[in-house]
Amino acid sequence: MKKAVFLDRDGTLIIDLPYNADPEKIYPVEKAFDALKHLQKLGFTLVVVTNQSGVARGFYSSESMDKFNRQMAKIFLQENVSFAGLYSCIHSPDDSCGCRKPAPGMILQAAKELDICVSESWMIGDKISDVQAGIAAGCKDSILISKERPETYSGNFLTAPSLWQASQMLYSDV
Ligand SMILES: [Mg+2]
Ligand SMILES: [Zn+2]
Repeated sequence: MKKAVFLDRDGTLIIDLPYNADPEKIYPVEKAFDALKHLQKLGFTLVVVTNQSGVARGFYSSESMDKFNRQMAKIFLQENVSFAGLYSCIHSPDDSCGCRKPAPGMILQAAKELDICVSESWMIGDKISDVQAGIAAGCKDSILISKERPETYSGNFLTAPSLWQASQMLYSDV
């Protein structure tokens, strides 16, 4: 079984522009490629898990979202970073689906489809709901990208000020 790093998209891999579905506006965060290449070198499979309620809210179509995601994958692939899967929740918070983070649905689906051992895998994201999803799924550990540790949530997770610094915290047992 593979071990993976589950990565949030907006605010983690690329600059978070509210409800962004414009493929011309994909801006990877600082040292994004170096960080992900480092994770690949450690033997981790990379999987994106992203909440895209803009679809349910009618701000953009799921086709536009797919196009955006494909373009993002292409930009990363040009830098030798490859995503094994890219999972999007297109529901609104009111839909009470099982995939919108903090629910673990996307991680569990990816694990099943891509033969990933969740307990050997990590979650990295810039919101508490990301680490909550990682914890709910049973990940080895979850890292919140944040300058400071929020006091509103007392779960068991790590913090790092940037994606690059988060990538340096991961280790591999196997
Ligand atoms: Mg985010
Ligand atoms: Zn959903």
